[in-house]
Amino acid sequence: MAKKILVTGGTGYIGSHTVVVLQEAGYEVLIIDNLSNSSIDVIEGITRITGIRPVFEKVDCTDMDGMRAFFEKYPGIDGIIHFAASKSVNESVRKPLLYYRNNIVSLLNILELMPEFNVKGLVFSSSCTVYGEPDKNPIDEDAPIKPATSPYGNTKQINEEIIRDYIHSGAPIKSIILRYFNPIGAHPSAEIGELPIGEPQNLVPYITQTAIGIRPYLKVFGNDYNTPDGTCIRDFIDVMDLSRAHLVAMDRILEDKSDEKMEIFNLGTGRGVSVMELIRVFEKVTGKPLNYQIVGRREGDIEQIWANPEKANKVLGWKAETPLEETLTSAWKWQLKLRERGIM
Ligand code: NAD
Repeated sequence: MAKKILVTGGTGYIGSHTVVVLQEAGYEVLIIDNLSNSSIDVIEGITRITGIRPVFEKVDCTDMDGMRAFFEKYPGIDGIIHFAASKSVNESVRKPLLYYRNNIVSLLNILELMPEFNVKGLVFSSSCTVYGEPDKNPIDEDAPIKPATSPYGNTKQINEEIIRDYIHSGAPIKSIILRYFNPIGAHPSAEIGELPIGEPQNLVPYITQTAIGIRPYLKVFGNDYNTPDGTCIRDFIDVMDLSRAHLVAMDRILEDKSDEKMEIFNLGTGRGVSVMELIRVFEKVTGKPLNYQIVGRREGDIEQIWANPEKANKVLGWKAETPLEETLTSAWKWQLKLRERGIM
């Protein structure tokens, strides 16, 4: 019988792509989302790709009664991939309590319910923000955790500590913490992708929205950094590659491939790409010149960070493989699809 995986935040950006990957690998997927940052239409997109409609329940992970009722209604869940969280760095500075409540209470509820319902594995979405401004690149998992520069970043650090302490206490669960670098792109079918509500916080949706005429120009925050072209450097990882890492991580837990009860992996390509380089590649693959302006640095931005993904490459047998050109083509195709559907 197919193993059952609960994906919280499964109608969101990374969650929806991961649902597709899990279904295609033969898992039975159930989704919980409160739709605070996603649309129910995503379920249709997933279904069009895989031909399988996942179970969906609109539940808020901070609602313990709602969560318990979910587990009672759907017994036999083997593992949870916990994406559900608020994720805007800027918003978290303005609304810290919302971030602490949502991101921390959600995890506490899940951890409390796991042993009660005999759920063995948890894959958790963390972020390279836990490293702050690295002393050196590429950065590996043993690099020091720096004081968080935003409440959002702090919730990820606290979440990691909560999982560590809980497992240390002897909780009967196993967990893999995945520290994402910068996920971009969309499913190649353009049936699902990133759907920012309001002004995008992330670079690629801002680029595609500018290219299609929704935004007049892209602001490049600073070209006076200590990098070859002066713009910030990131490790942009294709969302499908990132999603596949969740599948491998879940397999690893459920097949007991490791004696460790908690493991941490960086998920990146291992290659740093500057903001200007990314713009140039986008222009090349779309054949469209992009309107951009260099403006002042943005407070809190890290100068340069990219992953050392060797541990994930070796231990998980996973590698980010999609060329940047292909990833940006998928992001553009998704933007065109949104226009075609009259969404934006
Ligand atoms: P997203 O906002 O697209 O997806 C998150 C989903 O969770 C949304 O559908 C939202 O409606 C839902 N959600 C939020 N709070 C909830 C709650 N209390 N109960 C139920 N559902 C809730 O974000 P994403 O980009 O897909 O990110 C997924 C995870 O990955 C998040 O934990 C995020 O912090 C983490 N992450 C994202 C990035 C990135 O650049 N996108 C980088 C590092 C880490």
